[in-house]
Amino acid sequence: MIEKSVYEDYEIDFSDAYSSDDAYYFIFNDERELYLDENKKLPTDINDVNVDFKLYIGKFKGKDVFVVNVSENKTFLNLWEIYEIDKDIYLMATKAVLVRDWYISHQFCGRCGAKTQLDEKDMMLKCPECEQVHYPRIAPAIIVAIRNGDELLMAKHSYHDNIRYALIAGFVEPGESIEEAVHREVGEEVGIKIKNLEYQKSQSWPVPNSLMLAFTAEYESGNIKVDGDEILKAKWFKKDEIIRYGTDISISDWLIQEFIDSVD
Ligand SMILES: [Zn+2]
Repeated sequence: MIEKSVYEDYEIDFSDAYSSDDAYYFIFNDERELYLDENKKLPTDINDVNVDFKLYIGKFKGKDVFVVNVSENKTFLNLWEIYEIDKDIYLMATKAVLVRDWYISHQFCGRCGAKTQLDEKDMMLKCPECEQVHYPRIAPAIIVAIRNGDELLMAKHSYHDNIRYALIAGFVEPGESIEEAVHREVGEEVGIKIKNLEYQKSQSWPVPNSLMLAFTAEYESGNIKVDGDEILKAKWFKKDEIIRYGTDISISDWLIQEFIDSVD
């Protein structure tokens, strides 16, 4: 995972909705894929695309930066491909795509249905009728590496197309703490109890709008029990049994690598 902060290259500024001649454009299509030019660089103009909307969001690497959405069939790249090409662009794209999603999905007030208006100063859409404000949303989610001696617990989720073993993870539900979410997800997915829960670090994860909060924990008691529906199988892995998939993009990859490095 990228350890650097998005703010090393980015300065939030939502106030100046003007078009500069010297700017970067994060151009997304309807599949949330990003357009890079023929040199695999960020485009510095939008002359040859049909723009749905263009939103000024501040400065990226010293230049004005815009989020743009288009509906057309240029060659776009998904975010995983962007990660392999340019880590700085990927990091900023994980923010830009969430701004795009928010803007597209709050054009009308979810409370009363009126057309919303973009605020002049802050990143919010306001309803002129009922005064509801609509901010970009993130969804906190937990992921936990559970170990028992020199073994790591991983589970097969039925919703993965290619059925990989992965760490236990899930969304935080309304009304519960993050720690409660970890214990609940572990109980629901594999039926065991854990102890020594420790927060490690977090990662903004744009699938679809998660903030991943990573933990480590130790096995306490119980036998593995899966529901056979959401979770097909779960088992303990020694480090040599863990299959790596050649990417280090996610906080999950980081947690697994930390486990491997910690075992003799
Ligand atoms: Zn409203």
